[in-house]
Order: sequence, then C-alpha cells, then structure tokens
Amino acid sequence: MRIYLDYAAATPLHPSVKEAMLGYWDVDFYNPSSTYLDAQNVRKSINDARKTVAHWLGAKHGEIIFTAGATESINLAIRGVMEKFPSSNVVISAVEHEAALKSSAKYKRKVAPVDASGKLDLAKLSELIDDKTALVSIIYANNEIGTIQSISQVARVIEKVRSNRRQKGVKQPIYLHTDAVQAANYLDLHVSKLGVDLMTLSAAKIYGPKQVGCLYVKGETELEPLIYGGSQEKSLRGGTENVAGIIGFAKALNLVQTDRHEEAKRVSELRNQLMKTLLVSIDGAQVAGTMKKRLPNNLNVYFPGVDGERLVMKLDERGVMVATGAACEASNDEPSHVLKALRQSNEKAHSSLRISLGRDTNAGEIKKAGKTIVDVAGSLRQN
Ligand code: PLP
Repeated sequence: MRIYLDYAAATPLHPSVKEAMLGYWDVDFYNPSSTYLDAQNVRKSINDARKTVAHWLGAKHGEIIFTAGATESINLAIRGVMEKFPSSNVVISAVEHEAALKSSAKYKRKVAPVDASGKLDLAKLSELIDDKTALVSIIYANNEIGTIQSISQVARVIEKVRSNRRQKGVKQPIYLHTDAVQAANYLDLHVSKLGVDLMTLSAAKIYGPKQVGCLYVKGETELEPLIYGGSQEKSLRGGTENVAGIIGFAKALNLVQTDRHEEAKRVSELRNQLMKTLLVSIDGAQVAGTMKKRLPNNLNVYFPGVDGERLVMKLDERGVMVATGAACEASNDEPSHVLKALRQSNEKAHSSLRISLGRDTNAGEIKKAGKTIVDVAGSLRQN
C-alpha cells in the first residue's frame, strides 16, 4: 500500500467531478460559440459553471474569467495590470508562488517581508506602496508552509492608500490580487469579505482536472489580455473554451467548499497526530511557520542532520510520497525561497519535509506514515 501525502502538489480527480465532465468531449463536443441549439446548450453549461464559481466567491458571474490553470491566471493578473499601467510598480510578498515571483520580475517590483513565523509584515507592506503602485499581490495560503495571510487586513491598507490618493488627486488605480489556489479547499473565498479585486483559483488542487482555473476580476478593474484571439472570456482570454475542464472545475469547487469546515476539522486532527509523532520521536525536529494561522492539511518539518532530498527518496522506496517543497521547484537545488524568507538557514531549508494531507488520507495511513518517517529519518541521521 503506497501512502500519498503530497496533496499540495496534485489532487486526484473526484469521481463526481469525472462524472460531470464525461460527455463534454464526445456527445456535447460543440463549440460553445456556434449558433445552433446543441452548441448553445454547451454555452449554457459553461454559464452555469460560471455561476457556480461566482456563487462561492460572492461575485457576479461576469467577473469570472476561466483560464488554463493558476499559473496563467496569476500571469494575467500581474502582467495584465502591469502592461495596462506601464509606468507603475507592483508589490508582492516574499512567500509568493513561483508564478507570481517570475511573472512580476521584469517590472518595477518591491518585495514585502514576512516574519519568522511566515506572517506578512503589514507595516513594511504599507511603507513599500507608493503613488505609482498599481498592484499588490499576496498569496492567501502558502503552498509550502500553509501559512494563511490576513488578506482583509491587506485590503484595509489598500483602502487607506486609495483614500489618500483621492485626497491628493492621484489618478493611478491600485488593485489587490490574491493567489487562493491552496486556500480553496478549506477557507472562505468571498471576495467582498477579503476585499480583493483579483483572485486566482486552480481546479488541479481541489480534486478537479489540471490546466483549468480562473481569475476573478472585479467590476471595472483594468487589465491587458495575455492571449489575443477570439472574444471568449470578455476578450481577456481568447480561444475555444476548455468545456469539460470548466465543468469539472465548477463541480470541484462546489464539492470542496460545501464541506470545507468538516474536512478541515478531520484533516487537522490527522495532521496534528502526525506532527506529535514526529516531534516526540525525532530529536530536535521543528515545524516551520506558525501553527495558528495555517492550512489544516499542511506540515513542514525540519529534521536536523537529515538531507531532505535523500529522505524523500528513501520514503518513496518505503511507499510514502512526500516532498521537500513545491513540486515546481523540485528539480532546483536552491533552498526554498519560502523557508529563506522565514530566515531559516540553508542547512535547515535543505533538511525539511513538506507533508500535505487530503480527502483520502485516513488514520491508518497517518499511523503508518508516522512510523516510516521516524524510522527513515533516524537511519539517515546515523549515516
Ligand atoms: N499558486 C499556488 C499557491 C500553487 O500551489 C500552485 C501550484 O502548485 C500554483 C499557483 C500554480 O498552479 P497551476 O499548476 O495550476 O498553474
């Protein structure tokens, strides 16, 4: 029996999501932009999916722009705003996903630090925002350490900036974007409560298909498209829609948001049990990031004197699938930028394991995985 504990990297397609998608490749294969009735029925299915997504965000359905995954959505938010306002600057946090780090790198950019627990420094963030800042992009819940940022507090900072600008007659708009990819399984996504103008979601991390997601774009927010083509998705994302993907995405979001409280409770109990086993049994083991505002399924543990890469390989041999950090950075020898942002030493960052639980994780698996990790970490330490 292999034990999967890397749900932050990928989630299995839920059977009900798969069921909902079937038929949109062969029976209802029509181009939703065609005019005959059969195609218009497909258009209606997309619109229903858009309404479902909008419902969980408390948004208008016209504010949901479907994209090919979260990386594209983040690029559309960041590059879309920065291309629209070329003489402006962007502020991001030091713990953003690679998609935000890299898509913002070529613009005038400032990076807001986090403290040693992973929490964004709001005072520093406000200092970094100036009259030319067009966008602030802050990850809602981190993919490596699970830290949840208070997006509504960031929104209050932005609101103050707006009011100052109004008084001074500064015309430059300022928008707030959040990457809610990992948050979507467990947290409230209502955009008005969060106070965001732009929000990214991915189906791939919520038991939906890969390469589909969305960008929420509030009302009058001004963006340049990334991809030019047909007038689909309000001309912000041309190209024939990924119909089955969109249907699956909406179904998946409905699924995870419907029972998010129960699932958060269940998974956090299992996570805490595993954490206890690891901290009690492995001398000097420490958790990175706060336990207070953290995704219920995330654990990031430092094992002194153990090489993280070797630990992952040995655990794989023993049937436990975990990661050292983000899957998209796995081929990179550099220590995680997230752990470094928490002022962790290179040694610590190279000796850490990211464990992420999910809907199929059960008590038996956690017990077995705990024993195996303790065993393998202990033997690697002696070598
Ligand atoms: N943002 C976060 C927080 C993620 O965890 C991921 C994927 O790992 C992404 C963005 C990118 O998502 P996708 O692979 O769907 O483009």
